[in-house]
Amino acid sequence: MVARAARAADLADLDGEVSDCFACPRLVDWREEVARTRRAAFRDQRYWGRPVPGFGAADARLAILGLAPAAHGGNRTGRIFTGDRSGDVLFAALHRAGLANQPTSVAADDGLALRDTRIFAAVRCAPPDNKPTPAERDTCAPWLHREVALIRPTLRVVVALGAFAWAAWWPVLREVYGVRPPSPRPAFGHGAHWSGTTAPALLGCYHVSQQNTFTGRLTPGMLDDVFARAKQLAGVD
Ligand code: SF4
Repeated sequence: MVARAARAADLADLDGEVSDCFACPRLVDWREEVARTRRAAFRDQRYWGRPVPGFGAADARLAILGLAPAAHGGNRTGRIFTGDRSGDVLFAALHRAGLANQPTSVAADDGLALRDTRIFAAVRCAPPDNKPTPAERDTCAPWLHREVALIRPTLRVVVALGAFAWAAWWPVLREVYGVRPPSPRPAFGHGAHWSGTTAPALLGCYHVSQQNTFTGRLTPGMLDDVFARAKQLAGVD
């Protein structure tokens, strides 16, 4: 799997390779079971039921790193943060920030396009209870590492959505940028900021999950502040 990720020559190649990954037995079972049983509201739809590739600009200066696809969101539609409440909140914010051409993301063919931005997840298959194991995170890491390597020439800032994504970023420093991660690791927090000399800056943001957005822990204004800061650090107008 490491070799498959490493030989992807470009993002299209990588997207094709990752979509055909079966490396984690528990997650393969889960993504396929969800696709078979489906949620009542989507019973007439054919679920994607595969790993979900990254999405967005190949020359991204800003990246958004999530945890994993949602069972009835990305695992259904085949596009990350598409067709679920988390995506509704995220893309509305990206649209307000001028980084998305529309405020909604409902299906892979809905015309959504991102400017200067790429979105990907630390784990590419939907996990039960949104909780991948450490072994699954590590198994999936080469896909993330290759994706970052492919956009490395332009990438300046990474927004980590939640503590899982924040923790998943540190191995990227070693694997892609050849630098030692800071020790001790900076703690995750909303608005946390780390910057090195050769690697992109890292910004922490509470995850756009319903748990956070429905309770007011993460508000649209807080997201707007994070993306304004990310754009400034990335040099995006
Ligand atoms: S989580 Fe990642 S490594 Fe595991 S099966 Fe899915 S794509 Fe492959």
